[in-house]
Amino acid sequence: MSAFRCPGCGYVFDEADGHPREGFPAGTPWADVPDDWACPDCGVREKVDFERVEAGA
Ligand SMILES: [Zn+2]
Repeated sequence: MSAFRCPGCGYVFDEADGHPREGFPAGTPWADVPDDWACPDCGVREKVDFERVEAGA
């Protein structure tokens, strides 16, 4: 499982946790998140802007 961070506000989408409020249950692969999905925290950045968070980093 990987996690991805919004460069605008620092929100992290963790595949293991998903984001149920946005309709992505725990275990949702990043690949299943639409490319035009906007960050739920800042609403400014979209999926394509997110940066992979290395495990253990
Ligand atoms: Zn954000």
